[in-house]
Formats: sequence, C-alpha cells, structure tokens
Amino acid sequence: MISIGIQKVSKRFGATVALEALDLAIQPGELFFLLGPSGCGKTTLLRCLAGFERPDSGTIRFGEQDVTRLPPHERNAGMVFQSYALWPHMSVVENVAFGLEERRVPAAELERRTAQALEAVQLGALAERKPHQLSGGQQQRVALARALVVRPRCLLLDEPLSNLDARLRAEMRSEIRRVCKQHQLTTVYVTHDQKEALAIADRMAVMEAGRILQLGMPREIYARPATATVARFIGETNLIAGRIVGGESGRLLVDTPVCRFHGLAGDPNEVHRRGAEVLVSVRPECWRLARQQPAMNAVRGRIAETAYLGEVAQHRFVSGESELKLFELNPRFVGTAAQGELWASVDPEDVVVLKP
Ligand code: ATP
Repeated sequence: MISIGIQKVSKRFGATVALEALDLAIQPGELFFLLGPSGCGKTTLLRCLAGFERPDSGTIRFGEQDVTRLPPHERNAGMVFQSYALWPHMSVVENVAFGLEERRVPAAELERRTAQALEAVQLGALAERKPHQLSGGQQQRVALARALVVRPRCLLLDEPLSNLDARLRAEMRSEIRRVCKQHQLTTVYVTHDQKEALAIADRMAVMEAGRILQLGMPREIYARPATATVARFIGETNLIAGRIVGGESGRLLVDTPVCRFHGLAGDPNEVHRRGAEVLVSVRPECWRLARQQPAMNAVRGRIAETAYLGEVAQHRFVSGESELKLFELNPRFVGTAAQGELWASVDPEDVVVLKP
C-alpha cells in the first residue's frame, strides 16, 4: 500500500491550463475518484500519475519516491483505460500473462501469478477463451487482471466501465471495489458517472478548470456541496436565489420568493453577512409533501406535472413564479390526490446555503 502525493502540479497545453498548481494527498489503500465536467483536467492528472504526461512544475510521489520524471514502465502502476484493447489472437490467460513475459518472469511463477490474477477477477473458468468469446464485462475483467498481475503499486483507472451497459456497469463497479480492497491497492479512478463514484468511492475530488473545487467522502459532497458548481454537477438540485436575513446557532435565515428558509452554510468557513445574496440548494428528494402547512421551510404551491416511475414520482411543483423539482418516494400525491393546494417542506439540514 502506498500513498500518492501530488504537490503543486501544473500542466499547460499551449494556452490551455489543464492543471493549476494542484495539491492532493491520496491515502494508502484508498479508492479515490476524480470527477468534473469535460475538460476539467481529470485525464491529464491521471496521465501525469501514469507517466504519460510530464507536469510543467510540481511533484508526484508514490509513497516516499519522487516519480515525477520516471517513465511509465518504471512506475509500476497498473492501468485500465477506456479502450482496454485485448490481443484478439491470444487467449484470456495469454493476455493476462503477457505483462509477466515482458518482464521475463520465470515460467512457474508466471503460471502461478496469472492463475491468481484470473481468480481475483473470477475468470479462472474462462482462461482458454479468446476475447471475442467473452461478454463486455468479462473482457473488462481480463483488462483488470492484466493490470493486477504485475503487482502494481497502485491502480489507475480511466473510465474503465464506459463500454458496458448499465447492469454490467453496476456489477463491475462492485467488483472493482472488491478487488482494490482485497489487494489493498491505492486506486485513482476517473469517471463521468457520478453514481459510480457515489457508490464505491472512499473519497472523491470534484475538479473544475484544473483545480479541485471540493474534496470529501461521497455523502459529504452530495449532502453538503461547498459551492453552487458542485451542487449542480453532483446529482440534481433546486437552486433558489435569496438574501441572508439572519442567522443563529450555525443556522442561516434566507428570504427567497418561495419562503423563508432555515438552512446551513455549504462551506462552514464561508461567512454570509446579513443582506448578502445567496443560492439555496435543496435536493429534489429532500422535500416532503403535505396538505397541512408544516412549521418550517414550507412552500405553498401545486403540482403542475408528474412523471410517475413506480417507486418514485417526479413532480414539477409550482409556487407563484417559481418552479421546484420534487421526488416523492412511494408516491401518494398522484392522480386526483395531487390536485389542489399543497405544501412542500424540507428539514433545515437539507437546505444548503451557497455563494451565488
Ligand atoms: P473529459 O472528461 O472530456 O475526458 P478531462 O477532464 O479528462 O475531460 P483533460 O483531458 O484532462 O480533461 O483535458 C484538460 C484540458 O486540456 C482540456 O481543455 C483539453 O482540451 C486540454 N488537453 C488535454 N490534452 C491535450 C493535448 N494533448 N493537447 C492539447 N490540449 C490538451
């Protein structure tokens, strides 16, 4: 198990700043995700870790070792990329053994380690098949075994599941977590799929324009985004413009067109002065619907439209000029029960106050 230390790493491509003095410390054995909008620098950071890009400045350490200027093959990092091209003419076992042959590992050890790697991804039974005789998920597992067999110090994954359908993705993501934890491998994982990250990450970083906007555990980032950009990027949310009118014991009072909200600051270090313009973020599933007016954080309105999806109903809730998105689990307010005036309310801890 090694830590990965990234200190003040910058990388430009001509006029484009891909990474901007980025600092990040990944813990030994951690399954760490990089997320962010297209072009934010995720892949560039991963390629710097792999050794395919050299930072213009800054340092990258694997454990104690400075690897900033080491070529990829001397870093001993296992990599699985989006296009995990397997050798089509080689069997599964030959594909996995290839990296060991290149390293001139003696035959007996090569056989043992290859078998272990195939076992780790539960592919022992398919060892003699050719790639075209495998499903997408099985091919993906071969790619993972190929990365594991060389006993890497860390694992670098770039959209490793993007070629799979939804069901296989969900299956494989649990598989990846199991393998990483079993081998205690420090893993850095780049994805566009937030659900993938929320489901299996120990921690994640949300990036924008070559910087880290927020770093934390999935639950922290989802429930308490520190900026409006993070709130918008991770999951769905309602952002309601308002103005600070007071605050007491950590809670903030915000006047908005739909109601006076009691909420909490997204970034606990942010100072929100009375009169300051802010955005209130409320996730769609945090609302509750009722006929009677609740005591706090209550918005009066009506359901204008509903998408009924069985376990959940997605409502468009209209209050005056404003519109909110509400998700109701185990839906009650559908059909005739949805008609007429209603109240939508939310707990103060689910109301996140952010700088605009
Ligand atoms: P995506 O999610 O679309 O893969 P990303 O977050 O991985 O995006 P990067 O691929 O790291 O983003 O790119 C960061 C920025 O650097 C982008 O503006 C991109 O156009 C630019 N960039 C990346 N590689 C190169 C290159 N080889 N030459 C020029 N510009 C590059």
